[in-house]
Amino acid sequence: MHELNYEAPTSLDQAISVLAAAGENGRMLAGGTDLIIQMRAGVRQPGQVIDAKKIPELQALSFDAQTGLQLGAARACCEIIADATVQQHYPGLAEAAALIGSDQILARASVGGNVCNGSPAADTTPALIALGAVCQIAGPNGTREVAVEDFVTAPGQTVLAPNELLVAFRIPAPQGSADCYQRFIPRNEMDIAVVGVGSCVALDDDTCTAARIGLGAVAARPLLAKEAGDSLIGKTLDDAAIDAAAQLAQQAASPISDMRGTAEFRTHLVGVLTRRTLKEAAARARAR
Ligand SMILES: Cc1cc2nc3c(=O)[nH]c(=O)nc-3n(C[C@H](O)[C@H](O)[C@H](O)COP(=O)(O)OP(=O)(O)OC[C@H]3O[C@@H](n4cnc5c(N)ncnc54)[C@H](O)[C@@H]3O)c2cc1C
Repeated sequence: MHELNYEAPTSLDQAISVLAAAGENGRMLAGGTDLIIQMRAGVRQPGQVIDAKKIPELQALSFDAQTGLQLGAARACCEIIADATVQQHYPGLAEAAALIGSDQILARASVGGNVCNGSPAADTTPALIALGAVCQIAGPNGTREVAVEDFVTAPGQTVLAPNELLVAFRIPAPQGSADCYQRFIPRNEMDIAVVGVGSCVALDDDTCTAARIGLGAVAARPLLAKEAGDSLIGKTLDDAAIDAAAQLAQQAASPISDMRGTAEFRTHLVGVLTRRTLKEAAARARAR
């Protein structure tokens, strides 16, 4: 039988020490809604599991109008989506987090776990990319920051070294901006995104001053469709500008065909969801 040690550190320093001592054998555990399933299936077999839920920095959920949202990596999705500040300032992030599984899953699952699991189809990753969120990483050699779009490197793989953990996301304060996340699944709930798109736009007198579009499930890792977002800057977000951005987003995608959808269908969906999320994000920004 596979032997497993479990530790639940109550400080970041303790967690880093346990992780460093475990080396390749260690694995952080947040909600366990991915990890425990993977361990049962024999996909991952860590000898040391380190519970993230009791570390104060990983439970952060605080908003400042200048610096934005500090979101601890292990904070449960159910608390994030119920938070009035998140609902008001980051509705797209709330939309993405609310899609994860059922009420039971949401009570355990974290946004940090969603991103660290490294799935190209994770729902919160494109929403965070759209918001320009940054991952705060800690390890024995100190701390570093990595943009969310650079964090996942391949399916199931991230920039984290075995002795590092994700502490929190730093999400910029909205400056005349608003976000939106939508995905397509072939049924109403409890399914993995065939395509997911997060958009965030900033408006000044109806002129777009900034735009970011995150794409999920259309490449080996979640993507920032940079050219698509940049194409909107300086423009009024009318149908022509939005259609042009949607076409650029389609060009940024390199989907595969599988049982969930063909590459052609996924490319079509990127166009549809980019248009819809840009329009909704712009409407929200105008209403602010
Ligand atoms: C029924 C069901 C439905 C689901 N539906 C969806 C869905 O609709 N959309 C979706 O995107 N996902 C879905 N998921 C997947 C899963 O629930 C999410 O990915 C969830 O957000 C994972 O978070 P967690 O806290 O449970 O992570 P865990 O399972 O605890 O961890 C996931 C991975 O991240 C690592 N990790 C966790 N925290 C850290 C950290 N702080 N630092 C370093 N590494 C860390 C772990 O070691 C592990 O490899 C579903 C899962 C189930 C079982």
